[in-house]
Amino acid sequence: MAAALIAPPKIRQTNMLIGGKWQESRSGKRFKSINPVNEQVIAEVPEGSEADVDAAVKAARKAFESGPWHTMDARDRGRLMNKLADLMEANLNELAALETLDNGKPISDARGADLPLAIDCLRYYAGWADKLTGDTIPIRGNYFCYTRREPVGVAGQIIPWNFPILMAAWKWGPALAAGCTIVMKPAEQTPLTCLRMAELAQEAGIPDGVINVVTGYGDTGAAIVRHPGVDKIAFTGHYETAQKIMVDAARTLKRITFELGGKSPNVVFADADLDAAVAGAEFGLFFNQGQCCCAGSRLFVEQSIYDQFVEKVVARAKTRQLGDPFDPKTTQGPQVDSDQFNKILGYIDKGKSEGAECLTGGARFGDKGYFIQPTVFGNVTDEMSIAKDEIFGPVMSILPFKNADEIIERANSTYYGLAAAVWTRDVVKAHQFAAKVRAGTVWVNCYDVFDAAAPFGGFKFSGMGRELGEIALSNYTESKTVTMSLS
Ligand code: ADP
Repeated sequence: MAAALIAPPKIRQTNMLIGGKWQESRSGKRFKSINPVNEQVIAEVPEGSEADVDAAVKAARKAFESGPWHTMDARDRGRLMNKLADLMEANLNELAALETLDNGKPISDARGADLPLAIDCLRYYAGWADKLTGDTIPIRGNYFCYTRREPVGVAGQIIPWNFPILMAAWKWGPALAAGCTIVMKPAEQTPLTCLRMAELAQEAGIPDGVINVVTGYGDTGAAIVRHPGVDKIAFTGHYETAQKIMVDAARTLKRITFELGGKSPNVVFADADLDAAVAGAEFGLFFNQGQCCCAGSRLFVEQSIYDQFVEKVVARAKTRQLGDPFDPKTTQGPQVDSDQFNKILGYIDKGKSEGAECLTGGARFGDKGYFIQPTVFGNVTDEMSIAKDEIFGPVMSILPFKNADEIIERANSTYYGLAAAVWTRDVVKAHQFAAKVRAGTVWVNCYDVFDAAAPFGGFKFSGMGRELGEIALSNYTESKTVTMSLS
């Protein structure tokens, strides 16, 4: 019997949150959020202007300067964060369905991955709220010297559309634990779940002005970056946007952290557990419609097992279930919007014209919505566009390699450095690869294993700083040295 479709949720909030008040944009302008399944309008949300950003920054400044967020007992801050996590858990099905509606991702992924990871992240950082300690430092002379860790102030947080809830949680968690206040801009493609999360934050009792959400396009984000009342920018998105943000942020010397794109090598040696590697290759590339910054988009396979591996991975790609993301059986939904859809189809054409072998897929799926067939290219070479550029779609590029000697150089011959994976039963080979590959995360015999406690971020063009784990708290704190004379 076919599993029942999950019902799309009721949309509760389509205004933005500034200083605890839900409001229209000052210009009265709104923009449309489009359903990627059928290209219909889901909702219209305010297009935040510079004036709206200014109001949000003022509200965040006020909440920061006059408290009570960073001045409240740190345990209470943690308690409120846990309350938000509890409310997200209590409303998990609704939040997941809203994410599916806005983004197009399969409901089973939203419920089984995005939401649990986001809730876990908020709980992890709630636990840090009362554990931010300084040091006592033995300095020369008769002094007592110690450090305090203080919140950096107002954090401007700009997030993308591929994991809207999860990205908000990654950003809110360490900022709130550290005592910062927030002005967040969700991506224009997927604004709805961030607004709902902010509603739940209000319900949890997080004080007015601590979390402000301004919806809008890139210009709205740029207004946050330029605003002198913002102390720090945390951004996830494209490296070209990060380059603009760096220039804009320079004027006011803002602290910045970036989590950007990737072209991650996923390396399968001949001695690997083949079925596990095939499953990891499929998941590592096709998960979330290929819209993952850490997607294993350069799949290197050792020559001696190449044919066997390719046969298995193509067969597996063909089993992916495309269709209505509200069907629990669906494993692949549409791409997020027409821009992404057209860009990916453009790369598929380039792959074909540059001489890669299209082994399955290679076209759109159906005639409505932004669905793309799971596509696998074989015999890809390092110079082809599909081996160099971030495609951000369900397009797997398989590159044969001869042996361990050549693989590190080839794996590292990219300007990205976000993630990498290696499949082998030889622990020496695995550790040598992990040590030499220039990437912020290395998975051995697994892929896409995320945990709130494990840092994530990129080398080179893939980012600056790290998210998650204890290390991310340093993005939101300043160290203050206090020296007191004891004579
Ligand atoms: P993607 O290609 O994944 O859409 P972008 O880098 O374009 O990535 O967008 C990520 C986020 O950055 C979105 O919220 C977007 O609105 C925002 N953004 C785009 N341009 C700018 C900019 N110049 N300054 C600040 N934020 C921006």
